[in-house]
Amino acid sequence: MPIVRVALNVPVGTLFDYYAEHADQENIGLRVSVPFGKRRLAGIIMEVVANTEVPPEKLKTIQGVFTDNPPLPKELLNLFAFCSQYYHHPIGMVIMNGLPAALRTTKPIKPKKDHSATWNNTQLRLTDAGKRIALSSIPKRQRIARNLLVRFQQVESIPGEAFKEDSSRIKQLIQQWLVSGWISTDSSPHSAQDNAVTDSNIPTLTVEQDHAVNTILSAQSHFHVSLLHGITGSGKTEVYLRLIAAMLMQDKQVLVLVPEINLTPQLEAIFHNRFPCTNLISLHSGLNDTERLQGWLQAQTGEANIVLGTRLAIFTPLPNLGLIIVDEEHDHSFKQQDGLRYSARDLAIFRSKQVNIPVILGSATPSLESYHSAITGRYRVIQLTSRAIKNAALPTIQTIDTRIHKTFNGLSQPLLQALRTNLSEQQQSIIFINRRGYAPTLLCKSCAWTAACVRCSSRLVVHLRDKDLRCHYCGHQERLPIHCPECGNQDLTPFGQGTQRVTETLNTYFPNARILRIDRDSTRRKDAWRSILQKIHNQEIDILVGTQILAKGHDFPNLSLIGILNSDNSLYSTDFRASERLFAQLMQISGRAGRSNNKGQVLIQTEFPDHPLYQALQKQNFDALAKNLLIERKIAGFPPYVHQAVLRAEAHRIETVIDFLSTAAKLAKDYESIELFDPVPAQMLRLKGMERGHLLVQSASRKQLQIFLLQWQKQLSTVPTQKIRWVLDVDPVEL
Ligand SMILES: [Zn+2]
Ligand SMILES: [Zn+2]
Repeated sequence: MPIVRVALNVPVGTLFDYYAEHADQENIGLRVSVPFGKRRLAGIIMEVVANTEVPPEKLKTIQGVFTDNPPLPKELLNLFAFCSQYYHHPIGMVIMNGLPAALRTTKPIKPKKDHSATWNNTQLRLTDAGKRIALSSIPKRQRIARNLLVRFQQVESIPGEAFKEDSSRIKQLIQQWLVSGWISTDSSPHSAQDNAVTDSNIPTLTVEQDHAVNTILSAQSHFHVSLLHGITGSGKTEVYLRLIAAMLMQDKQVLVLVPEINLTPQLEAIFHNRFPCTNLISLHSGLNDTERLQGWLQAQTGEANIVLGTRLAIFTPLPNLGLIIVDEEHDHSFKQQDGLRYSARDLAIFRSKQVNIPVILGSATPSLESYHSAITGRYRVIQLTSRAIKNAALPTIQTIDTRIHKTFNGLSQPLLQALRTNLSEQQQSIIFINRRGYAPTLLCKSCAWTAACVRCSSRLVVHLRDKDLRCHYCGHQERLPIHCPECGNQDLTPFGQGTQRVTETLNTYFPNARILRIDRDSTRRKDAWRSILQKIHNQEIDILVGTQILAKGHDFPNLSLIGILNSDNSLYSTDFRASERLFAQLMQISGRAGRSNNKGQVLIQTEFPDHPLYQALQKQNFDALAKNLLIERKIAGFPPYVHQAVLRAEAHRIETVIDFLSTAAKLAKDYESIELFDPVPAQMLRLKGMERGHLLVQSASRKQLQIFLLQWQKQLSTVPTQKIRWVLDVDPVEL
């Protein structure tokens, strides 16, 4: 009987052999259910072979093969294999991490959801917007969409049940057109959304945008990495749209990766408007299991043309993939920080190479790694140096020296004055502070006690509105104490500034202003973002107070003042990437101002106005800062001049951790090409009740580092580690 080698979700880096009747090479990639100890596990067939080293009496037979979903394509299996090798993570766990939940189980998948249920018993008709679609605007090859449009154009309305016998593609189109507002049902609340695409509302490209599109398209048939380095407001999205259009004309699929789930609805709307007849799916952690599975299957069958998603979407099967776009490529959320610590950006480059297609990395502030690859010629760099919207000027950026202008409750007089002026001119303002909650901690002024988390080495953040203290690392919550647990003092003071407190202070200064707080607490509710953005656009908000959640990609047309509080914390951080990250964040938030005809102003409160980072920021000179930082990194021997990996370990006591790391360090001593650091406790020692430490290793050669890690991991697996959990993190983005 043939033998199948199966990848299972267990922490062992090998495949498991089973008998499987009638199995052949065609079955590679199929999902199976197999006995494993006393359990039943789901797995993926990776190989079909004739012989095995497992003794016949120990070899079991698979229990079932699932043919309700097609086998995973070879290209995706190769991506998983690479990911497993490069990040030194067991292959079965890599695969299961990438699959939708429904495909990780030993149950068959549920049949496809039929959208038509929602409009089966109602009349469907073209909206005003739908009536304006010209047949000529739909490419001839999209025959089904053209026929459907004609069908609607010929009559006043069509009963939903008339589509009962039609293909799922037609039902899908109807669903999309409903979402896009092209057609309406009797029960649609409002139908005539004015979002029709006509040639006149597709913007004319700037010279730079045009050049970018042509450069990329001229080499579209083979692998190359382009770094699209465009200042905020330079119209990177329009470049993406033109490239996507070119791919769709050739019936190719496009994968677009974005860092934030909050950004997907906005981009989704832009894409829907531009490509109304295209099947777009979005894949992110906010979807339920069924939604994600449906999207995944549509991508795999080639029905979906555009896949828009966060880092996990890199593992989507795409048989006709023609282009990958990684927007905001510098963003650290492309790197997963637990379990399989992969970088979706780096995997995007691998995947493009594997299928020989172009990949675009877009950013206003590229990561130093990508920037370095661009200036050394490994990547092609394409610059967008001017704003795409006519009359939109870059904002002016100034610092407010808080050694001279003392702050009260976090706000200085010059900033308050600027806010007052802006309010009187009926312009919108943003106050940016990277700390949600009311205040970073609770302090006893008589004995200097501060509220700390019982499970982490972190201070608890005061959330006055809910009258509790919260740990922003582990989620621990407790009631606000009435008196100091150390000395009994009843006068406990919230210390420092958070979004809630700044909002409260602004309310006392500007009682008539409409002030809104935006952070993870206020946007937790589903659709909260949508209604907030609506309010901003309707000019129902005067001042927004928010965390970095505000910085990302949203256009606020009437925004002309941005105040930045407490950014100094990151200037002298022990993390060598902190300045790079702060600069990116401040550039991004500054870029929100002055998008339309208003000239924007950015005011940064700081005690260090002469710091090179603020100097570069005021000149909006990314290149100057990047070149400086690269020199620093070269001298210090940090990435991108070396390649790093971190062995992370945790246990109940730090001594156990350091012992283990010291053993690991001894094992690594024999490798000449590897530079080894000392084992150290993590900067935040305790997290969720565990104490943590790490050991950093690096090498000038990526290849040597990989060879070393492979050997080292084997050695580490033989070290007794009952009380320890450890993991390798390749190309770490934080320590
Ligand atoms: Zn006290
Ligand atoms: Zn905690």
